[in-house]
Amino acid sequence: MKSLDTLSFDNRFARLGDAFSTEILPEPIEQPRLVVASESALALLDLAASEAQRPEFTELFAGHKLWEEAEPRAMVYSGHQFGGYTPRLGDGRGLLLGEVVNEAGQHWDLHLKGAGMTPYSRMGDGRAVLRSSIREFLASEHLHALGIPSSRALCVTGSATPVWREKQESAAMVLRLAQSHVRFGHFEYFYYTRQHEHLKTLGEHVMACHFPQRLKQDEPWLALLREVIERNAAMIAYWQAYGFCHGVMNTDNMSILGITFDYGPYAFLDDFDANHICNHSDDTGRYSFSNQVPIAHWNLAALAQALTPFAAVEQLREALELFLPLYQAHYLDLMRKRLGFTSAEDEDEALIQRLLQLMQAGKSTDYTLFFRHLGERAPAEALTIVRDDFVDLAGFDAWSRDYLARCEREGGEQAERQARMHSVNPKYILRNYLAQQAIEAAEQGDYGPVRELHAVLSRPFDEQPDMQRYAERPPEWGKHLEISCSS
Ligand code: AMP
Ligand code: MG
Repeated sequence: MKSLDTLSFDNRFARLGDAFSTEILPEPIEQPRLVVASESALALLDLAASEAQRPEFTELFAGHKLWEEAEPRAMVYSGHQFGGYTPRLGDGRGLLLGEVVNEAGQHWDLHLKGAGMTPYSRMGDGRAVLRSSIREFLASEHLHALGIPSSRALCVTGSATPVWREKQESAAMVLRLAQSHVRFGHFEYFYYTRQHEHLKTLGEHVMACHFPQRLKQDEPWLALLREVIERNAAMIAYWQAYGFCHGVMNTDNMSILGITFDYGPYAFLDDFDANHICNHSDDTGRYSFSNQVPIAHWNLAALAQALTPFAAVEQLREALELFLPLYQAHYLDLMRKRLGFTSAEDEDEALIQRLLQLMQAGKSTDYTLFFRHLGERAPAEALTIVRDDFVDLAGFDAWSRDYLARCEREGGEQAERQARMHSVNPKYILRNYLAQQAIEAAEQGDYGPVRELHAVLSRPFDEQPDMQRYAERPPEWGKHLEISCSS
């Protein structure tokens, strides 16, 4: 085990030099206090949970203190935002403090979000509000617990520093952990500014640090794109299978590691609706739930464009063709598991499609609870219970007959089926209204609800008898919260 005082740093990205990032110190927030910390994220750095109780912990993650070995830097990148290219973005309010190497030899980027102004702040104030910091924290740790690839969050610190948004709020910081903070937009920046030497350095850095086996292949740049395609196909399959809407799939928010990254106005679907738009500022629905698949493909094409100095266009195009079939295979695999199948049949895809169409027609089926309830009892009985949430009952009955027949072919004991289904179908999901209630308490200085919600969502598949209220269907008001971009 390590302590806060014995962490080892190896700042590989900082060593790439000033073309890639700008040295800058965090600007502290006033009267800092620890809002919430994640024990499992602490463990990634080999830190015991008790380290979060030390005053130094809060000081470090509120910008009041810094390790000697840290080298805080703001990274430069650009990106396609809502389809249009913005030539320069970069860390406008977050700093890469350094890379900690844990006992297993893994590097973890420590990124402090809300750390003040940088050369990339544009019109912004360099701050993050308590509300959005808590949202990022809760989602990062919950997606990880669900098995969905994600950046992680170590803690949130709150403060008395005022920040203006639509109203006065308070500044906070969230400490994000990821094995890399390189985004698609990093590559785009060096490509569109024609700094191809730096583009090469960046690509080689990513391959050497994260995909060393790809560096050995004949066409390493093509191999790099394939790796990113494979990872993104898997990530998007999880999003679609679990009803996660990211909300701002700009290329500057897409991680080269294929992890869910930069949480903004995200949402998990409550009632299933393929057309759901979780971002209140997304007027055209570019980033609606069902558009996430073609948009991921579009984003990968934007990345491929940035790799054209080093790989043949025809080959990059061919690599891009891998995305949809890979996505589809992952998605089918996840959905089969959610429906309780261990085997694969050709008709499964149609069975899944029909189920989603029935949900879509009624818009009255809670997407998370449907699967949980389906596993709770033997199929025939479970179906009579979930049936109430569908509008097209004749359609549902026809689907039920086919599902029952499929379950019979699958065979096996109900106890085993339940255990299997419950291990992939969460009972607890991060609903926007639950986050909202915890945020409102935190804004009043009561951090109990955020901590409790975080604890519940860290074990989303487990029965937690005293926590039933977190597993209920949302109230009507809770389904229609309006959440916008950066805050
Ligand atoms: P986001 O919507 O959070 O992904 O941010 C998009 C871009 O705007 C990034 O370059 C951010 O660093 C920048 N940005 C967002 N909010 C702020 C802020 N309050 N101050 C400075 N820059 C910001
Ligand atoms: Mg961003």
